[in-house]
Amino acid sequence: MAMQVDLGSRDILFMTVIKDVRNGLLAMAGVSQAEGYECVIVQGSGTFAVEATVSSVVPKQGGKLLVLSNGAYGKRMAEIARIHGIPVSIRHYGEREAPRPEHAVEELHNDPSITHVGCIHHETTTGALNPIEAIGKAIHARSPKVSFIVDSMSGFGCYPVDMKVGHIDYLVSSSNKCIEAVPGFAYAVARREALEASKGNARTLSLDLLAQWQVLEATGQFRFTPPTHTLLAFRQALREHEAEGGQRGRLARYQHNFNVLCEGMAKMGFHPYLDDDIQGCIITTYMFPTDPKFDFPRLYKSLQDRGIVIYPGKLTEAECFRIGSIGRLFEADMRFLLTAFKDIMEEMGVQLPVTQRSL
Ligand SMILES: *Cc1c(COP(=O)(O)O)cnc(C)c1O
Repeated sequence: MAMQVDLGSRDILFMTVIKDVRNGLLAMAGVSQAEGYECVIVQGSGTFAVEATVSSVVPKQGGKLLVLSNGAYGKRMAEIARIHGIPVSIRHYGEREAPRPEHAVEELHNDPSITHVGCIHHETTTGALNPIEAIGKAIHARSPKVSFIVDSMSGFGCYPVDMKVGHIDYLVSSSNKCIEAVPGFAYAVARREALEASKGNARTLSLDLLAQWQVLEATGQFRFTPPTHTLLAFRQALREHEAEGGQRGRLARYQHNFNVLCEGMAKMGFHPYLDDDIQGCIITTYMFPTDPKFDFPRLYKSLQDRGIVIYPGKLTEAECFRIGSIGRLFEADMRFLLTAFKDIMEEMGVQLPVTQRSL
């Protein structure tokens, strides 16, 4: 409903929307302009804001990015750097492991040319939650000049994150994950000093983070046509986020969804691919069962016919599927899924409880 309004992109009413959204995001990140932080919105999907950040802030001369990667999104961040000709090294982890602070320190020790470190907050590939604050702290203690970039696409708004404690210079997220608005833009909450120091580093015109911020600040408007309806929806989504109790309220609902899901899936013999200590409550990966009657495309299609969408796996290591517990979902939705899931497994003739494939 919030989107059923057409506003001009340079209209004063729309400028108020931009301002509300930028301030709302700073508040959600637990920081303010007075404390030296800025919110820069970028048109496009989440990847656009990761690309805007990486391609705008790593110095053209003598810059190097280290990515701590335990999944597809870590790899994507490194790929962005590579495409822009930015020197990059990756510390690879298995998909069931989280990056470790002491490894970041080790990498910085071995390679003093690293100027920036990037890490994913919640690795959506598997559903793993990475210890970004501990990593940021360790980086800062070892090399205070090294800048820390966090992709919190599927974490922000649900999991707490303290940019100050974690020495995070850039926290990147998008409109349509835990904040539950529609797709169309993404953003970086940035430490102003770091952002200002990035002058001259942009490799593109439209994804120039510093220029985008400067124009937003100077005019209250975007440089180029903004997704006006998405911003209107997002302002409403921020109000609903706050009404639910902010980050804590959202985490509580997602955690409950996840608990209901896990309990129901366990009864059918499905256990999460990740160990408890790194499993988040956003998305859960399950290995396929061994039963030859299990047919994933059929399961997918049958769920879709009932109005439920799950996600194929994205692992390089194993055949699996993923179930999300984020979005405008409640306990009743999770139970509806579980009932449908069980019915379909029975229709396929899969023996319950299943035995899952081993790793
Ligand atoms: C979804 C996601 C992205 C990319 O988002 P797009 O909107 O598809 O570009 C990047 N990183 C993480 C961790 C994500 O979950």
